[in-house]
Amino acid sequence: MYDLIIIGGGPAGAAAGVYAARKKLNTLLITEEFGGQSKVSEDIQNWIGTTSISGIELAKNLKQHVEEYAGDALEIKELDKVTSVKKDGEGFSVSTENGDEYKTKTVLAAAGSHRRKLPVPGAEEFDNKGLTYCASCDGPLFAGKDVVVVGGGNAGFETAAQLLAYTKSVTLLHRSAKFRATPITVEKILAYEKMKAITEVEILEVKGDKMVNAIVYKDKEGNDVELPTSGIFVEIGQIPTTGFIKDAVETNEYNQIVIDPWTQKTSTPGIWAAGDSTNIRYHQNNIAVGDAVKAVEDIYVTLRTS
Ligand SMILES: Cc1cc2nc3c(=O)[nH]c(=O)nc-3n(C[C@H](O)[C@H](O)[C@H](O)COP(=O)(O)OP(=O)(O)OC[C@H]3O[C@@H](n4cnc5c(N)ncnc54)[C@H](O)[C@@H]3O)c2cc1C
Repeated sequence: MYDLIIIGGGPAGAAAGVYAARKKLNTLLITEEFGGQSKVSEDIQNWIGTTSISGIELAKNLKQHVEEYAGDALEIKELDKVTSVKKDGEGFSVSTENGDEYKTKTVLAAAGSHRRKLPVPGAEEFDNKGLTYCASCDGPLFAGKDVVVVGGGNAGFETAAQLLAYTKSVTLLHRSAKFRATPITVEKILAYEKMKAITEVEILEVKGDKMVNAIVYKDKEGNDVELPTSGIFVEIGQIPTTGFIKDAVETNEYNQIVIDPWTQKTSTPGIWAAGDSTNIRYHQNNIAVGDAVKAVEDIYVTLRTS
């Protein structure tokens, strides 16, 4: 039986892996992959201690750091996915997509969050056929084209900023009157001549032939508008990755794991959680790391005093 199973290899899971191994907790870290969400970012400028780093490079560093500790105390299972966490006697049983089952005294859930998909007809059909959730991955394919960004938060404006570098025009569609992105970013991006934003729209449909050729929305006057476009970049938020554990711990109305921010404990003794899958107010790489470290400190004390 393991002392600890860490689920996730983003900033939170990686930090937990390093700390748990250094404390010689008999640990298993299970992750689909290392790096987490900001892996798609071209330039991360607030990873403390590094003025600028690409998401890919950050992912490589996190993986390398964890692997440095693999061995006696720490075992790593990459390319697998946890499907359930269940109470099992004094501990827990953790099952994975590969059909494995592991027993552990404690669990740290650090599976972060994933992109919210556009819930309209055509969105699934044209996913990766002109509709994409990753500007830094697919943006260059749309050089010289008219594209649309859906979403008026920081991610939407960050995507627009990237696309402005090589597309013919960028139209940002946002469902409410006010943008969620920081005012300074909004002002800077909207100042570009080839940038346009339309607010108070409801997206109705994605259209195309083999590839996307239009997006249909209802404007604020209630008219259906068909806007021709070659590419649609969707940035409408994140969904916490908690399905595999929601029967074992308390979650809130957003499906985030409810934690005690003092210790990272969940409502279930023996399960801790850290990072973007929790109900903390701010979601950032540095915060995910700090909270995961806090969790491992608390797990260590709990195991050693029980
Ligand atoms: C485009 C973008 C840019 C960003 N830029 C910045 C930035 O510049 N600075 C900043 O501080 N923050 C940034 N963020 C936010 C930051 O990425 C997150 O706050 C951070 O990644 C959260 O870390 P985490 O470890 O909690 O979760 P995640 O990064 O989501 O990592 C979760 C990990 O769990 C794994 N996983 C998921 N489900 C399972 C499962 N069932 N079983 C096993 N493994 C699983 C995933 O593969 C992944 O490795 C950005 C986010 C996005 C989307």
